[in-house]
Amino acid sequence: MTPKVRFAPSPTGLLHVGNARTALINWLFAKASGGHFLLRFDDTDPDRSSAAYATAIEEDLRWAGLDWDSLARQSERLAAYQSTFERLQADGRVYPCYETPEELDYKRKRLLARGRPPIYDRAALGVSEAERRRLDAEGRKPHWRFLLEAGTVSWDDLVRGRVELQADRMSDPVVVRADGTFLYMLPSTIDDVDLAVTHVIRGEDHVANAAVQIQMFQALGVEPPVFAHLPLLTDSAGKGLSKRLGSMTVRSLRDDGIEPMTLNGYLARLGTGEPQTPISSLEDLAADFDIARFGRATPKFDTDQIERLNAQLLHASDYDAIAAKLDGMGLVRADRTFWEAIRLNLHRLSDATYWHDVCFGAIVPIVDDPDFIRSAAMLLPAEPWGETTWETWTRLVKEESGRSGKALFQPLRLALTGREHGPELRVLLPLIGRATAERRLASSGPQPAAALAATETTR
Ligand code: GLU
Repeated sequence: MTPKVRFAPSPTGLLHVGNARTALINWLFAKASGGHFLLRFDDTDPDRSSAAYATAIEEDLRWAGLDWDSLARQSERLAAYQSTFERLQADGRVYPCYETPEELDYKRKRLLARGRPPIYDRAALGVSEAERRRLDAEGRKPHWRFLLEAGTVSWDDLVRGRVELQADRMSDPVVVRADGTFLYMLPSTIDDVDLAVTHVIRGEDHVANAAVQIQMFQALGVEPPVFAHLPLLTDSAGKGLSKRLGSMTVRSLRDDGIEPMTLNGYLARLGTGEPQTPISSLEDLAADFDIARFGRATPKFDTDQIERLNAQLLHASDYDAIAAKLDGMGLVRADRTFWEAIRLNLHRLSDATYWHDVCFGAIVPIVDDPDFIRSAAMLLPAEPWGETTWETWTRLVKEESGRSGKALFQPLRLALTGREHGPELRVLLPLIGRATAERRLASSGPQPAAALAATETTR
């Protein structure tokens, strides 16, 4: 059977890195097994879900390169949920409950006060048929619970290994609210059945739900899918990355200049114990993917590490892989030679604009020793310029001035680039070109204080 997985976000916020990891692992699982990746929006809660968030999640997944084979929205499948629910009603696997939220809260508090787990007492099962009719006649609308069967629910989780949970220690979950709307638990199961999902890969906050859902699959006469529950990410201090806080969204990383493959590579390795090295394509990740590598330890999402990885990825990217993006940055001369000259100096791709200015734009040369710079300018070789021009020129300047080492090179760098550091001048000089180099070297003389301050704050 072809594996089929689903990523099932609730469109109640932007895509969080924790969810992005779930999406990626599902995607890689599908790719590695020749399977199908379904994107399913869990949008049954009209108050919290929004179409704008669903669109934003789609955009973020596309940015990451995680395209889906099919898409479903729970809000469009309500009729299917209703008919399955009626089947469960007929089978007696769901039952009506008339307690108010206040009554339930009171019961819960009393149990907790006595040191008991706050499990629903199933009082509603004792309501007689006559009483029920009376409540219905009064206009009271029941909510509905799924009746759990006592006993152990077990499964072989692809991440956690053998899991065994006691259904007796759980409350019968509410599946339909008094207003007739569905909660998460049952629609998710019905979708997994109707859409033929074979593997449910999600966060470990759903482990207890799996026990309930396994009973739901059984109640519907269907073999449950295989489950894999991944530990949730924390921040580097070990605190939870809350979806609602939106503290670490895919969008914020994207806005910070993190490349999609930096994020994908990082998330795919996080929690596997494998070293974080730059990976250039999803195909490479898929070729090496094995869900068994994910352990149960809590992975820490480390923004410093992801920034380092981003720089490493850019340093390792060859021009062909980056050309389309560079083109999109509106730089006049972002060709192969330029890319090769600057890539080792990038932390994020947008830094290319900075180095583009250094090569071709308006910079403020820094000239501390105008006489030296003026005489160096006189020695600039004739064109054409190439890889050896810098060496030829600096040899001449060295002979004439008697300077060497830093005293020779640093004033030339400052005058030519206005920066203390940067790519090798051997590769920069031919890019800058003779006309610009001459102009920069000619702008000798002490720089106005304002201009100097500006160069210092550029970076
Ligand atoms: N909408 C649920 C969530 O975002 C999906 C859980 C599941 O994968 O079944 O947590």
